[in-house]
Amino acid sequence: MIFKKKKFERKVLLKKDVLDSILSYCQMKHPNEGILILKGKSKDGEIKIDGLVIPPFSETGPTFAGFPHSFLPFDMSYLGIVHSHPSGSAEPSVTDLHNFFGLVSIIVKSPYDDDSIFAWDSSGNSIPLLII
Ligand SMILES: [Zn+2]
Repeated sequence: MIFKKKKFERKVLLKKDVLDSILSYCQMKHPNEGILILKGKSKDGEIKIDGLVIPPFSETGPTFAGFPHSFLPFDMSYLGIVHSHPSGSAEPSVTDLHNFFGLVSIIVKSPYDDDSIFAWDSSGNSIPLLII
């Protein structure tokens, strides 16, 4: 593990078509939570998401979305997870932070529009999210 001295400004870049797929998936799953794996590339603090994967063996309910991480193949292009909060809060729950996977956790709250999506790091700090 190499720690670089220069601190990069972190941000999440999300492709518009990926955003649309996330929003329609979450709408479809409502009132249950939807969960998807984020695929893309990360470089110099810039997390660029350009694809989605439906997780294997996922279980979802109104307040729970998850899957056993041990079933995931090791894949460097897996950047994190996006899941929905049908309750309408975009804040990560304690469970969300406990089950943090990858570099970023994106949460979409209901009503699942372009302003309903937020990115968080493993400490629960928000990361700027840009639609490209
Ligand atoms: Zn959650």
